[in-house]
Amino acid sequence: MTIGIIPAITTAAYIIAALLFILALAGLSKHESSKSGLTYGIAGMAIALVATIALALDRMKGIDDEWIPVVLLFGAIVVGAAIGFWRAKIVEMTGMPELIALLHSFVGIAAVLIGWNGALGGFHSAGVAASDVRTLTNVHEAEIAIGIFIGAVTFTGSIVANLKLSGKMKSSPLMLPGKNFINIGALVLFAALTIWYVTTDGSTGVQPWILLAAITVLALLLGWHLVASIGGGDMPVVVSMLNSYSGWAAAASGFLLNNDLLIVTGALVGSSGAYLSYIMCKAMNRSFISVIAGGFGIEAPASDDTDYGEHRETQADAVADLLSGAKSVIITPGYGMAVAQAQYPVADLTQKLRNKGVQVRFGIHPVAGRLPGHMNVLLAEAKVPYDIVEEMDEINDDFGDTDVVLVIGANDTVNPAASEDPGSPIAGMPVLEVWNAKDVIVFKRSMAAGYAGVQNPLFFRDNTQMLFGDAKDRVDDIIAAL
Ligand code: NDP
Repeated sequence: MTIGIIPAITTAAYIIAALLFILALAGLSKHESSKSGLTYGIAGMAIALVATIALALDRMKGIDDEWIPVVLLFGAIVVGAAIGFWRAKIVEMTGMPELIALLHSFVGIAAVLIGWNGALGGFHSAGVAASDVRTLTNVHEAEIAIGIFIGAVTFTGSIVANLKLSGKMKSSPLMLPGKNFINIGALVLFAALTIWYVTTDGSTGVQPWILLAAITVLALLLGWHLVASIGGGDMPVVVSMLNSYSGWAAAASGFLLNNDLLIVTGALVGSSGAYLSYIMCKAMNRSFISVIAGGFGIEAPASDDTDYGEHRETQADAVADLLSGAKSVIITPGYGMAVAQAQYPVADLTQKLRNKGVQVRFGIHPVAGRLPGHMNVLLAEAKVPYDIVEEMDEINDDFGDTDVVLVIGANDTVNPAASEDPGSPIAGMPVLEVWNAKDVIVFKRSMAAGYAGVQNPLFFRDNTQMLFGDAKDRVDDIIAAL
């Protein structure tokens, strides 16, 4: 059997693209090499796209009405590229996680459609006599059922994640009675339906496509329920978990389409996403199994009607006085700094204080903001020197020796309830222990809760004062008063 020139070149191009994707992952794992990692990724994807289009055109040669699939192929590429370019151009940094969640949903729905295409376009082993051919078609059918299942879970799960991250759906966990049994029951039902789908010979009167439809609906509902059951504080892990699911969905599509690159890329995304979820769970003191199983074992939090007392309010000029008399200051930024785009005046304030001889450092929580590294990127953008930006673990013991902490638009990441209240929905999550400092100033617009939806006892402590208003305006006011 001879292999055509285009398929041969495509195979070689796929190997090069796969290697570039591996180099991209290696590069992205370190700050210094992340730019070259990105370049490898873009190059790999460009090679993969050109090779796949060339292969598709080669396969279309000689078929009736050849122009129809060609127009469809290029039409889809142009429309997809235009929408992708437009969205990437207008997205705000704070909107990245919800956009990523939406993109994962596309991978999910693509896997579902490819699975259905494989089922409708191929043939079911029903009617095929027991033979090697039948065994092969059985394997193919199992791939279809599993691919559709993972794709559908990823699709609805990612849509819920998008709705939660964009604030269109409440971030608090959905607590259906017996939710763990619902999840386990859905998995058992999926296994049973898949075995039935693969082994049916059609004699029971149930058509294979009905079983496949049941698997699709079941997976769509399970995906929705899994992510809806996870609370706001665990959303960072959910986003990386869905990233992993989308990888496995792509790998399943690769098996169906006989596309080696899709299998390799899917496996890379699937395993790196799973590993990232695991690292994040460890950093946040969360059970990996509990999070990926839709909050398995987490009970409904008791409603919080604790009376924390009164909070104290302060003004910008009083904060300027406090800062002028301080020797050491730590700034802990959060999502609110990103919303207010306050990083530039914050960098200015830092410079002014350093010029006066005050020691200023930043304390960065691993999930501050709405994506890992969010705060580091903003501070780098505003040219805050790297050497004064410290990770939570590096700086947490230093708050006791600090005069003033400025909490700028952060809430959950500085909530003492995480370490002091075992009943809190964020219990066990490590937090920046800002309350150990002599004075704490909290910049926010109201007494509203943070993303996890829990009250923050820090605001009511004796050494805490609230500076209300938009973070950028208030920092500008402090700079003026200084
Ligand atoms: P939070 O969401 O807990 O708190 C942000 C605070 O900023 C709010 O309390 C809000 O209060 C305040 N704020 C908003 N806009 C402004 C403004 N213009 N000026 C001043 N203040 C403002 O943020 P954190 O960064 O502390 O915590 C991150 C949370 O997000 C965690 O729960 C984390 O699990 C979750 N998360 C993290 C992801 C990640 O990968 N890093 C991804 C998804 C979720 P007010 O409205 O009163 O102004």
